[in-house]
Amino acid sequence: MSDFPHEEFADALAANDEYIKSFKYSELTGVAQRGLAIVTCMDSRINPLSVAGMKSGDAKILRNAGARVTEDVLRTLVLATYLLGVKRILIMPHTNCRMAMGEEADIHALIQKEHGVDTRSLEFRTVTDQREALITDVNRVRSYPLLNAGVVVGGAIYDVTNGKITPVDC
Ligand SMILES: [Zn+2]
Repeated sequence: MSDFPHEEFADALAANDEYIKSFKYSELTGVAQRGLAIVTCMDSRINPLSVAGMKSGDAKILRNAGARVTEDVLRTLVLATYLLGVKRILIMPHTNCRMAMGEEADIHALIQKEHGVDTRSLEFRTVTDQREALITDVNRVRSYPLLNAGVVVGGAIYDVTNGKITPVDC
């Protein structure tokens, strides 16, 4: 065990001291008030709640590199749809995503070159055709046998240059 690295998190902890002074969500439960789950990328340009007009308590946000539907996303969505009020799921990758800009092998080669680490035991799930991958992922959720019946699943692409969400027929 080691001491918490206070120095590295000083800004976040200081901001939290301010945040709690006007904290207004103490009455919320873990149920998504507006029945929405958004699966999106970890990209720091995306504020998933804001882009869809949501606030704390309204929606479940699931994030990973590339907004891909992984086993863990499915696991989380199953729980969210049975226990936490989720009735609609939006899969939302974005423009200019590093995970949609090249082959899996290129990312492994880049990390190998710059950091000397062989990451090929991981599958990064990069895509070469973002739209096709989105259609596959949306249908992966739709056809997942354990998902709560009646849940609606849609796909859309978020534009990081202007904030627009463009729905995609899947
Ligand atoms: Zn991304």
